[in-house]
Amino acid sequence: MEMFKNKLIVVEDDPATRLLIRSVLFKSGYQVLEANSGEQALELCACEGPILVVLDIGLPGMDGFEVCRTLRASGRRQGILMLTAKEGDQDKVEGLDAGADDYMVKPFNPRELVARVKAVLRRLHPLNSSNEPLLFKGLRLEPENRRVFRDGLEVRLTPREFNLLSNLLKASGRAMSREELTDALWGINHFGSPKLLDVYVRRLREKIETDPSAPQLIQTVWGYGYACR
Ligand code: CA
Repeated sequence: MEMFKNKLIVVEDDPATRLLIRSVLFKSGYQVLEANSGEQALELCACEGPILVVLDIGLPGMDGFEVCRTLRASGRRQGILMLTAKEGDQDKVEGLDAGADDYMVKPFNPRELVARVKAVLRRLHPLNSSNEPLLFKGLRLEPENRRVFRDGLEVRLTPREFNLLSNLLKASGRAMSREELTDALWGINHFGSPKLLDVYVRRLREKIETDPSAPQLIQTVWGYGYACR
């Protein structure tokens, strides 16, 4: 399903709180849909494909933890920011265990809520669409015309090699997991062999590294993925 860039869902059974959340997020430029129960939230998520769900824990029927686990099990990758009325670590731990990206205690400062939503989205979608050239240790990647230079000389990359390098560079030193890279290259619903990613990394290294057997640009993060750092 297409992910709409700015569509969020607020799940809260208390109308006043729901309205408050909706209005601060709306003012920050998001399209905000509302659900007053977990069941309704799951239905909306399935048909609307939000990028993030603000999810209250205390809901009639299915509670927020269960909604969170169900959303995670569905494999869709929207962000989840949980809300609870209770101070204390127990809900927080359970919320994060259930797969929430972040957590806030009510009553909250509306501006902080917006900041948290943005932070979750930045973590989930680190690939900004800026067309500024990306520079890294003698490499120059020009997103707009899809060209790559090493020490001033153009390196010819296939579209997938280019996307791989571009993803790693845009992560600005953050290690990307194998899963994240595979999703970025082949799409979320790809079920291909993870080995394929290694093949692409090897080919890319052969083109951009001085010594591909001792890579200086693309590092292997053992048991996790790769990083340009
Ligand atoms: Ca509630």
